[in-house]
Amino acid sequence: MMGRVGVSMLRRLVGALSCVLGLGCFGSPTPLAPTIRGSVGVPHHGTLTDGKALPSHGPGFRRFRGDAIRWGNPRLVDAIMEAAATVQRLRPGGAPLIVADLSAQRGGKIPRHRSHRSGRDLDLLFYVVSPDGRSVQNPGFIHFGRDGLALADKRKGRFLRLDVERMWLLIKALTSNQQARVQWLFVARWLEALVIEHARARGEDDELVWHAENLLRQPGDSSAHDDHIHMRIACSPAEAVAGCSGGGYDWPWLPKAQPVELSDDELLAALLDDDLPAPRATSPDSATAIESQP
Ligand SMILES: [Zn+2]
Repeated sequence: MMGRVGVSMLRRLVGALSCVLGLGCFGSPTPLAPTIRGSVGVPHHGTLTDGKALPSHGPGFRRFRGDAIRWGNPRLVDAIMEAAATVQRLRPGGAPLIVADLSAQRGGKIPRHRSHRSGRDLDLLFYVVSPDGRSVQNPGFIHFGRDGLALADKRKGRFLRLDVERMWLLIKALTSNQQARVQWLFVARWLEALVIEHARARGEDDELVWHAENLLRQPGDSSAHDDHIHMRIACSPAEAVAGCSGGGYDWPWLPKAQPVELSDDELLAALLDDDLPAPRATSPDSATAIESQP
């Protein structure tokens, strides 16, 4: 007797059945398995359908490169556009946030990156100021030291300084956006320290700063990220049902979805009809259906 079955179990069953029937396994969306879509797979081995393109520029931001690698999960694209607009509204007149690579339109491998394959990753250049404190546009992937300075032009000996004030406003906007479900903000430890020190000095809410400290992380398996921030969003519960994996860290402050439980009849109908139900309304205290993977 199978009893009632949680949605992650259902996803595995549908995935296994799809593989067996040759309809396509998770990680390979196919018209024959229409419920497997969106950010599919993990950031290092995945694909993307129904992505949203980040425009070349907009309120408070500008894209760094051409059109090929401008696609992402709509939550990711919306989150960065909203955050950039918030910073511009709070500190008008500054240089735009420079957004570098997202993903290809259909995801998969792209140059220069091991991840960025499922529309859940993007790179951000730091806000910078000139030595006399004027906001200037980041010229592109310059390395910042522990003093918050970067050599922007070797020949002219021109330095730029990390704009900790606007960096904090950006990180605050991303951390506060629960819809975005930011999973990580990969950045060098010493640059995180400068930004967090600034947040504490200006008396920001302790809990918010703690959330930001959790998201900001120097990656252990790649460069220290002293020239950009790599932002990654987690899978939402609904996306996890549709094939998004490595949803990872279910941060305790994010809203949870109630696990969807199905009777045997409902399960059979879903398997036959490819008709997976959406998770029920979210509630901060309910149990979660998200798979936790590191
Ligand atoms: Zn990246």
